Amino acid sequence: MPLSDKKESVIRAMGIVGELRKNPETLNLSTSDVPSEFDLPASQKALSTPIQFIKGVGPKLASLLEKKGIRTVEDALYFIPREYQDRREIRKISRVEIGKVETVTGEVLAVDIVGFRGGKKKVFEIMVGDGSGVIVGKWFHFNLRFMKDRFKQGDRVIMTGEVRAFGGQREMHHPDIEPFDDTDKLNFGRIVPVYPLTEGLGEKTLRKIISQVIAGYADNVKDGLPQGIVRDRGLMPLKEALEKVHFPGSTEDIGVLMAGRSPARRRLVFDEFFFLELGMALRHKGVAMEKGIPMIDTGELTGRLRKLLPFALTVAQERVIGEIKSDMASAHPMNRLVQGDVGCGKTIVAFISLLIAVENGYQAAIMAPTELLAEQHFLNIHRFAESLGVKAILLTSGVKGKEREAILSGIRNGVVGIVIGTHSVIQGAVEFKSLGLAVIDEQHRFGVIQRGVIKKKGDNPHVLVMTATPIPRTLAMTVYGDLDISVIDEMPPGRSPVETRIYNEKEREKVYAVIKKEVEAGRQAYVVYPLVEESEKSDLMDATNMAENIKVAFPDFRIALLHGRMKAEEKEGVMKGFKDREIDILVATTVIEVGIDVPNASVMVIEHAERFGLSQLHQLRGRVGRGSHKSRCLLLAQYKRSEDAWKRLKVMEGSTDGFRIAEVDLEIRGPGDFLGTRQSGIPDFRVGSIIRDARILDEAKTAAFSLVEDDPELARPENSILREVLRDRWKGRLELAGIG
Ligand code: ADP
Ligand code: MG
Repeated sequence: MPLSDKKESVIRAMGIVGELRKNPETLNLSTSDVPSEFDLPASQKALSTPIQFIKGVGPKLASLLEKKGIRTVEDALYFIPREYQDRREIRKISRVEIGKVETVTGEVLAVDIVGFRGGKKKVFEIMVGDGSGVIVGKWFHFNLRFMKDRFKQGDRVIMTGEVRAFGGQREMHHPDIEPFDDTDKLNFGRIVPVYPLTEGLGEKTLRKIISQVIAGYADNVKDGLPQGIVRDRGLMPLKEALEKVHFPGSTEDIGVLMAGRSPARRRLVFDEFFFLELGMALRHKGVAMEKGIPMIDTGELTGRLRKLLPFALTVAQERVIGEIKSDMASAHPMNRLVQGDVGCGKTIVAFISLLIAVENGYQAAIMAPTELLAEQHFLNIHRFAESLGVKAILLTSGVKGKEREAILSGIRNGVVGIVIGTHSVIQGAVEFKSLGLAVIDEQHRFGVIQRGVIKKKGDNPHVLVMTATPIPRTLAMTVYGDLDISVIDEMPPGRSPVETRIYNEKEREKVYAVIKKEVEAGRQAYVVYPLVEESEKSDLMDATNMAENIKVAFPDFRIALLHGRMKAEEKEGVMKGFKDREIDILVATTVIEVGIDVPNASVMVIEHAERFGLSQLHQLRGRVGRGSHKSRCLLLAQYKRSEDAWKRLKVMEGSTDGFRIAEVDLEIRGPGDFLGTRQSGIPDFRVGSIIRDARILDEAKTAAFSLVEDDPELARPENSILREVLRDRWKGRLELAGIG
């Protein structure tokens, strides 16, 4: 047999075996004779049928579909149209309205390539006539070979686009155009889906494949939502939703469809969010039922620390500490996220929590995303810890040999009370005597899975996660949905907002004047660069060169350079020098982005500001304005900046509210980029968007959490399908361990 037939046979055989396993008496087989991987329910197997086995899909088409992420029939079912075209009514060309999106059909009267701008540019034109009039389709960017081969004079075509008027002629620019065939009921006389395509894959082909998949396989999709939820929320059945999202009914409102608010789409989005939040709710409930280590804040260490602090805690800090204390005192492990804007004082909150664990005879660890930040936490914490008689150590990759051995054995035998390090602390061969609390100071980098690893380093230790910058609520719900959330929504007193302004290269002198004035007044300045070393291709001035230039510009000031390729001790030396005011201007790469804390610094100059993301800019700006001095952030941007970059910089000028900035950043960049790659643990949604569909996310979360409240084990008979679907989803797309 050819390979594809073999595959098909095997898949069919697996289906039969699965059925037999359910009813073994029909074959006199004992169940143990059937290998367990054949145990997938038949419906699930049908959905994982490779798309290549659909009629008309050969290997070539299959590889094009794969480019779009369609490998199985299930992928095809969930390949949601990007928009729709209303082809219920076809307009006479003489009747089309300027400014409206219209669909016309007719005959190709002429195909031409026309030069303009003195022949420098070319436009591809197709003139279409239907007897009532003519209209011209124009393509300003086009693949010549592809377009020329596709349409010839005399072809019948259908064309959809916005109608424009140009010198008495009607035109459509970059319309959608396809061959027309009025016996074709799939593509004409209805609302048709428009899919995101890849070259070589046409809309018609895709519509045909998807309509076949719906007809053949939609029955296998398991509708896991409990009837009560479907009814109360007015949702449509899942199968119907899948059909209609691709091929809407003849009476549907095209406006509603285009806005992504059709009942079909709503059902699919709800479904997707619901099963995510259900997993979160179970995880949350699971932790709530685990046995933890109750710890009481005796005040023995924390009380002494409070006396050592040069300031009183803010009301918000006290409230959050209260929430942490009550979590730690309970018989179940804490699982909490602390959010707060840059500079709100999260470190001290973490430190107090660490001390509570130590007071109770346990060890505590705090993990930072970078070595530099770990070093800084160490500098901050260990001077206090020392006076409290608690042994705090720094464990980074820079600590080697005998010293490392000594530290590791100190952690093992319990001499060390507080371990400060990077995330590798929990991944490496570090053994704790009795880890009671792990604090993760993160930069949106730590997924749910890593949090699971921590649990194994101790006997169900308490876990506290702190975000470096605020993250929008919807994102927190999807990434940290299983955590309880605390917000520090207040800044320490005496801070005034950092004044922010955009400058261009010509205004460099003005920027330098600000630095000069501040340093002369006893303050310190940061100058930040996006890169360390100049690459041949880029025209970026690199930090090394600029440090030299700055030295020339400010011969009387003390200037130092800090970058990621320096050795740990060197970096530490520079940071300490800056903190001790032995350095006036610190020229640095983004290694200083997170957490560096020097209250006397009042100027932040960001070179090539157009190259940074919003959250990063906000983080950098947060390095100043930490003391009582009025601070300024100067964004030096080059002329060549994209519209997005300009938008970002304007947002920085207009707002210092980290939560607001995070929302805008999420909107501009989308969730994946906002959190930075896969490590973030963000699920990749097939239908829903946490920005557009925030309302549905809220609803889904409420429904999921209250369901788990009612039936924590999902043991009720009416929830049995739900259990199954949940397991499939979390095993497959959500890929998060430990559920079900
Ligand atoms: P972040 O939340 O960005 O991690 P930090 O914990 O680094 O902020 O705190 C920023 C600065 O504010 C530090 O210099 C810290 O000592 C100071 N700080 C923290 N809490 C208070 C407070 N209640 N009053 C005054 N200063 C505070
Ligand atoms: Mg911090």
